[in-house]
Amino acid sequence: MASLSLKHIFKVYDGNVKAVNDFCMDIEDKEFIVFVGPSGCGKSTTLRMIAGLEEITAGELQIDGEIVNDVEPKDRNIAMVFQNYALYPHMSVYENMAFALRTARVPKDIIHEKVTEAAEILGITEYLERKPKALSGGQRQRVALGRAIVRQPKVFLLDEPLSNLDAKLRAAMRSEISRLHQRLGTTFIYVTHDQVEAMTMGTRIVVMRDGFVQQIDSPMNLYRYPDNMFVAGFIGTPQMNFFEGVINKRGDEVRFSLDCGAAFEMNYSFAEKIPVKYMDGKSKVIFGVRPEDLRIARPDATDSHLWSRTKAVVSVVEVLGNEVILYANLNVQNPDDKTGAITVKTDPDFIVHPGDVIDVEVSRRKFHVFDKETEKSIKKRIPEQNIVNVDIANNTIRLAEQSFAIPSAIVVESSRQNVELVMPISALTIGRGTAKARIHGVEQVEDKTLYTLDVNGSILFSLKDGEPEYGVGDDVSFDIDMCKIAVADCGIDPMNTVNSIDGEFTKSKISRKEYQFYMQMAGHKLVPSVRICEKLFGCKGTRIFKTPLNYSFDACAVTAKPYNEGDEVGNALIGKVVSIKDYGHVKYATCDCNGTQVVAAYEGQVGDTLALEVNVDMVTIKDKTIDIIIV
Ligand code: ADP
Repeated sequence: MASLSLKHIFKVYDGNVKAVNDFCMDIEDKEFIVFVGPSGCGKSTTLRMIAGLEEITAGELQIDGEIVNDVEPKDRNIAMVFQNYALYPHMSVYENMAFALRTARVPKDIIHEKVTEAAEILGITEYLERKPKALSGGQRQRVALGRAIVRQPKVFLLDEPLSNLDAKLRAAMRSEISRLHQRLGTTFIYVTHDQVEAMTMGTRIVVMRDGFVQQIDSPMNLYRYPDNMFVAGFIGTPQMNFFEGVINKRGDEVRFSLDCGAAFEMNYSFAEKIPVKYMDGKSKVIFGVRPEDLRIARPDATDSHLWSRTKAVVSVVEVLGNEVILYANLNVQNPDDKTGAITVKTDPDFIVHPGDVIDVEVSRRKFHVFDKETEKSIKKRIPEQNIVNVDIANNTIRLAEQSFAIPSAIVVESSRQNVELVMPISALTIGRGTAKARIHGVEQVEDKTLYTLDVNGSILFSLKDGEPEYGVGDDVSFDIDMCKIAVADCGIDPMNTVNSIDGEFTKSKISRKEYQFYMQMAGHKLVPSVRICEKLFGCKGTRIFKTPLNYSFDACAVTAKPYNEGDEVGNALIGKVVSIKDYGHVKYATCDCNGTQVVAAYEGQVGDTLALEVNVDMVTIKDKTIDIIIV
């Protein structure tokens, strides 16, 4: 039983092949994690780094809270099962399973007990005396699993264990491995390129592509709320349909016009999570809908308000018994138009034939929209930003007939009408301030609540920790955190509170055998914690002293206090306040520290000299030579 923590893990092979980039994940005890993605995306490399078979280039791997980057594979208490079984051909099944225990000098009677128990679990008792070559593929894979089980490891790592088996046996072994996971109650990490295997076995799935994690989520969330087109297309069969097009909003009506000529219309309330800026009729988007979220229009349907209708011409009908897959085209005039090709999964009570023109309906609740350039979802379960048009005059922002005083930190040169204000949804707090809104939607997303607010017809989102406190229709007050807003037309930017300072790691001798280490930046020396030293030396050894570094930390990692010559200060940079930005609820001071600017929250005056105490454990350290975060 074990929990694992992978922090900013990178693998760079010789020749600067970045096989794994910034892999971050916490795995809880007893989870069944699946790494899935196309061949070459870095799944096996990540698994092998966990096993200790591959060196970690940068980052930190913890098992049960202990850093194991430099722990030998045999001491990690991990068992790995490979695709090719890796059995010893000259040994019997029993000997294969007993081998690791024998080398660990486990007494014979205990070995016997463990091997017979594992053989029973896996149903291979009758083959214990056979040699591997006298076994089928499925039986060999069971022996490989048995060899792992007898060691009672904390973590099971399985690298495509079923890919050498035929489809039927694979399905059977899949459920057998899931049962084994439940029975053993151990953490499993399983690598596969097969999305069905991933979806049926994993409690959480990591989707990878080209060395980058695309999304980590439960199978259901990956299916329902894919973060990008890659995940959307990778999960689910038949694959999600994608169409290029534009969106128009006219009043309460939203129209999706696809390049193939088809269009879907719906009420704005079904599309309100899509930022309005994409609804200008010009921004290119990709509309995505799964075959199972489409249907053939039913004359007797009572739920028509949940569906949008368009025409399609059928080209192929595949009858699978319990369901029918239709291959059709939304371009009824030109059924060969590739941009209009659509797959529909429907039930078999509709009899249609190639050449028929049918009414296809799209679920208004279950469609997806992606930005064409970034391929990222723009209809996220939790929207990232609020984007709303505002008027700016007399040091006041007018947003949907509500007024917000502009703090002195924000300088607005001239009045502006109808300009776009962008803020993260965390910048909008309900239950505070004087602006008024009505709750239009409430959705619980894990341990948070997403509120949709109607502010005189404009839709805004707010995310709060915990369970819902308000219901649909409630009137609430709300406030906006002015440090976080951006209005491009007026040069209003969010306050940048991140300090990014180039520096180095140095040492000085304090006794014959002892050194003191320093994080050297802005002409000052900060004393690193033991954790930082371990990580830096673990990653770079003594080369760390010659490596150019970048230290970055948020203003919240800094405590600013007035400083007088001779004061006793801890781990602090000394600087003079050169400017102060007053946001009302918080003031940020920019300080000059030997020519480097450092930002911290501070309630004093320009000209004050400050001791800026840095919480070094909140500092991120990057190796500038390879552009990789090492702490
Ligand atoms: P996957 O398991 O997802 O198929 P891998 O982790 O095996 O992918 O490989 C990820 C990338 O790293 C690939 O581009 C692969 O070519 C490269 N790679 C793997 N092993 C080595 C190696 N020993 N030396 C150099 N490149 C490697």
